[in-house]
Amino acid sequence: MPTAHQRWDPEDASEEDFEPIKTSRTTRIIRIIVAIIAIIGILQLSGLYQYSFFKRTPEKLAQKPLEGQISEQLTVPLSIYIVKSETPLNSSRNEQNVRDIVTDAQNIWLQAGINLEIKSIEEIHVGTIDTLPLYAYPRGLIKNLESEKDNSIKVFFTRTLNGLNGISYGRSDTLTIADYTANPDFRVLAHEIGHILGLPHIKHNSALMFKGANGTDLSFVEISTARRFANNFN
Ligand SMILES: [Zn+2]
Repeated sequence: MPTAHQRWDPEDASEEDFEPIKTSRTTRIIRIIVAIIAIIGILQLSGLYQYSFFKRTPEKLAQKPLEGQISEQLTVPLSIYIVKSETPLNSSRNEQNVRDIVTDAQNIWLQAGINLEIKSIEEIHVGTIDTLPLYAYPRGLIKNLESEKDNSIKVFFTRTLNGLNGISYGRSDTLTIADYTANPDFRVLAHEIGHILGLPHIKHNSALMFKGANGTDLSFVEISTARRFANNFN
């Protein structure tokens, strides 16, 4: 009988000798892939995915003002809600942090002659609700608040969106931004405001409306569309 060492020596190995190796390698690779998928699934469901792969935007990271050609300024008011909860939704942002992110998003929208004006900042206590209202339509959370009647963009800040940077809700004036994002949070805010102002995604690396990237450019056509929508807030 050959020893294990001799058995796998390529010099005397036959086709049959290698057959079991191929099978066990394939099985092992499949097991590893299944394990990775399972781990990502668990991280995703628990909200840990966002903490593991996304990060808080460093405070010293700032957006420089993008000057534009437009002299007539339009103002878009923002009503801001910082979600407080006993669940992983609980945002750790404070008022100053929120003012900073809006200033940076404002510096992106400057090129369109659009001013983001903070109308109010308040904490909203949502108890033990899960992420569902934040995916679906969080405005239900503020249905009893006076400011719902205001003509403003409603911005929610929450700790996690289970793998999303931010979300805006079709044909509404409401959006949500996560604490942990894959791109700078102010760019995420500026991007979601773009959706509220009627802009769809476009596939251009440097564009603000390119999904999940760092671009900040707005085209002439996008600027005129956004200004038309912004007029509704004036
Ligand atoms: Zn988008």
